[in-house]
Amino acid sequence: MKLSDRVERVPPSGIRRFFELAEEMDDVISLGVGEPDFSAPWAAREAAIQSLERGRTSYTANRGMRELREAISDHVAARYDLDYDPDDEVLVTTGVSEGVDVAMRALVDPGDTVAVPQPSYISYAPGVIFADGDPLPVPTREADDFKLTYERLEASGAADAGVLITCYPNNPTGAVMTASELEPVAEFAREHDLTVISDEIYADLSYGFDHTSVATLPGMRERTIVFNGFSKTYAMTGLRLGYAMAPPEAIAGMNRIHQYSMLSAPTTAQHAALEALRSCDDEVEEMVATYNRRRNLVLSRFEEMGIDCFEAKGAFYVFPEAPGGDAERFAEDLLHEQGVAVVPGNVFGEGGEDHLRVSYATGTQDLKEAMDRIEAFL
Ligand code: PLP
Repeated sequence: MKLSDRVERVPPSGIRRFFELAEEMDDVISLGVGEPDFSAPWAAREAAIQSLERGRTSYTANRGMRELREAISDHVAARYDLDYDPDDEVLVTTGVSEGVDVAMRALVDPGDTVAVPQPSYISYAPGVIFADGDPLPVPTREADDFKLTYERLEASGAADAGVLITCYPNNPTGAVMTASELEPVAEFAREHDLTVISDEIYADLSYGFDHTSVATLPGMRERTIVFNGFSKTYAMTGLRLGYAMAPPEAIAGMNRIHQYSMLSAPTTAQHAALEALRSCDDEVEEMVATYNRRRNLVLSRFEEMGIDCFEAKGAFYVFPEAPGGDAERFAEDLLHEQGVAVVPGNVFGEGGEDHLRVSYATGTQDLKEAMDRIEAFL
């Protein structure tokens, strides 16, 4: 069967190859996964169960349940100072994954350029290609703590892109950006009339300070689509629920695709999400505190081992330099010799090749054992 050129242009995910290797081995501790080791808070699970018991198994409104959109709007107002109308500025999606895909297709015409900072979450560049656009890599560097800067945007030619993707707190680096650090990025977007896709799925996993959404900076609300979701904060990856927030014309454009390709996000998950927003703050706080303790543990163990690791302040990843410089070789040897899976940074694009992504969304005992094994391997 002939596949489309856009499918042929996208290579299979490098992360998968590593998992496949790890799955064939016994006694492997995986620090490779990008999902919480917790289960969703019980109240959210119970709401899902009850929704099924009550027979709520039909579609919802295309944009998502009205009650959920209201709860989302209230939540982001209270927590991030974002102001979106639940009627026409919120779209509930099947994960941030669907949201970003739909946004690309709503914004990008064939041949349009989308600026994609590197290293980055593995789905962005393929998403651009599936929308028939061209990803433009914008390097971020450890010297800048992997923050996006005006200079790097300018030097990479992002002025000619129509769209810029940002993701802070960041996967894979764990980097965060404060309001004053985001301001020059916003200035660049305003100057060059860029639309910003801001993936803020790790917003709640910021350690030691409050997350700032780029959409709250002057002149940014009208040019930004903000994404957040339930996968990471509420440990609900398998329920597949996220949301997009943007001015009405952007949400209407995205909904035009979403209503044909998805109809509506999963109904059971929407009930779980509504309860998560209503009553699960304490559980989230506990999970965030646990991640933070693990982050400190991993950072201090790497320091003791003499591995250079910049201080990641968000998400649940650290991004140390690979001893010896060849991340792929290091990760493969570590897996075979000590049964610890980490992800070589090259799968996240340019600038990642001499780094490793180490996830601490793993039980604390396993994490300690994995760090001992890494030390033994060194
Ligand atoms: N965005 C980022 C930055 C991620 O790291 C991930 C998952 O790893 C996603 C989006 C996917 O989110 P969802 O489960 O809501 O589709």
